[in-house]
Amino acid sequence: MSAQEQSTASTEPVEQLRLFRETLRRWLRENLGALDRRRVDEEFRYKTVAGLYDAGLIALTWPVEYGGRGQSADYQTVFNEETAPYSWALPDQSVTVGICANVLLDFGSEEQKTKHLARMLRGDELWTQLLSEPGAGSDLGAVRTQARPTETGWTISGQKVWTSDATKSRYAVALVRTGAPETRHHGVSVFIVDLESDGVDVRPLRQMTGEAEFSEVFLSDVVVQPSDLVGELNNGWNVLLRMLYHERLALSAGTVGERMGGDRFAVLSDIARDLGVIGDPMVRAGLVDLYVQQRLLDWLGARMRHAQEAGLADGPIGSLGKLGIARANRGAAELGMLILAGRGQAWRKDDTIAVGVSQLLLSFPRTAIAGGTTEIQKNTIAERLLGLPRDRGPRDIRRAAD
Ligand SMILES: Cc1cc2nc3c(=O)[nH]c(=O)nc-3n(C[C@H](O)[C@H](O)[C@H](O)COP(=O)(O)OP(=O)(O)OC[C@H]3O[C@@H](n4cnc5c(N)ncnc54)[C@H](O)[C@@H]3O)c2cc1C
Repeated sequence: MSAQEQSTASTEPVEQLRLFRETLRRWLRENLGALDRRRVDEEFRYKTVAGLYDAGLIALTWPVEYGGRGQSADYQTVFNEETAPYSWALPDQSVTVGICANVLLDFGSEEQKTKHLARMLRGDELWTQLLSEPGAGSDLGAVRTQARPTETGWTISGQKVWTSDATKSRYAVALVRTGAPETRHHGVSVFIVDLESDGVDVRPLRQMTGEAEFSEVFLSDVVVQPSDLVGELNNGWNVLLRMLYHERLALSAGTVGERMGGDRFAVLSDIARDLGVIGDPMVRAGLVDLYVQQRLLDWLGARMRHAQEAGLADGPIGSLGKLGIARANRGAAELGMLILAGRGQAWRKDDTIAVGVSQLLLSFPRTAIAGGTTEIQKNTIAERLLGLPRDRGPRDIRRAAD
């Protein structure tokens, strides 16, 4: 290869990436630049995704045959950088795309992938996860929701809880027991459940933020077909482990550009500047901490995306990101309260800044629970990344006491 050919070969991808950045930036400016962010609702956010999809600017790393663009992880990083200031105009697709679509890509049948993936990527289908139950959260090997075989398929009965966006979702991936109760993780399977089926009862749960983002879901003899099974029968535990890996990646590395919660450094530094406290030493120190945490999470996210692209088993690294995002969100909420001082404790209804920051405070605990609690992430880091001795779980402690 000549020197000139070599230089073209090495600069071409950089040039293509630069062109992609410019095209995306222009699209965002033209379609979102003049909007009042306070008037943007969920319907608009999904229209933004559909618009980006139709323009070929989203679903970048997904295979072309399932509606993606077949591009490298670098494109996703550029996408995340460019869309960060517009996170208010994009929906959180971490569950539908980051988790459920990825699980279908890994384990779904050809029929499942063809039927659903492009629609999920375009935001036409919303999905959720039916994993947690009143008696099974961190310990999902204890799920009791039971699938019973029929002549043509199965019927599923049981109760799930904390199901995010169940009221808006059309489909769910459900972890159910297909073996006897004592089979624990050897006797579970994953099915696609159409939430519009007979026998599905979704009951929203109100959180302390005042919103009802998640629900209890009761399943009574809900019919599923053999074509709804994801992966092999009784091998749902492997599907679940992969799902949890995607969940940590999605929650920490960002799926559609947004870090979970958007660019909090930018939001809080604007508020501090407007309120005239940007020079306060405590506020400055807090902003620097937040900036450093966000940058570290961005870089960790880029590393995880590249590891996934390279097919490396990088599972436990996701726990670092998940732990990091929970800490960053807590730090942002505390800093917001410091910046607002008394105004963060009592405010008028039309004080949008105080309302926004108080929502931050009331919602940050969720990131330390959803997708595996902080304690579970610490156990994973200790045991799988650091090689520390296995945690003594409740059963070990009971055994030692006997
Ligand atoms: C905002 C939000 C959205 C969610 N969305 C969904 C969803 O869409 N679908 C879904 O299925 N679930 C969802 N969940 C549920 C979530 O996955 C569970 O709440 C979580 O896994 C913890 O389970 P649990 O609530 O049963 O708590 P438990 O497992 O009962 O844990 C209680 C406490 O004990 C600690 N603990 C438990 N086991 C250990 C251990 N071995 N070592 C150390 N400490 C331990 C935990 O850290 C926690 O502090 C969501 C939760 C939240 C907050």
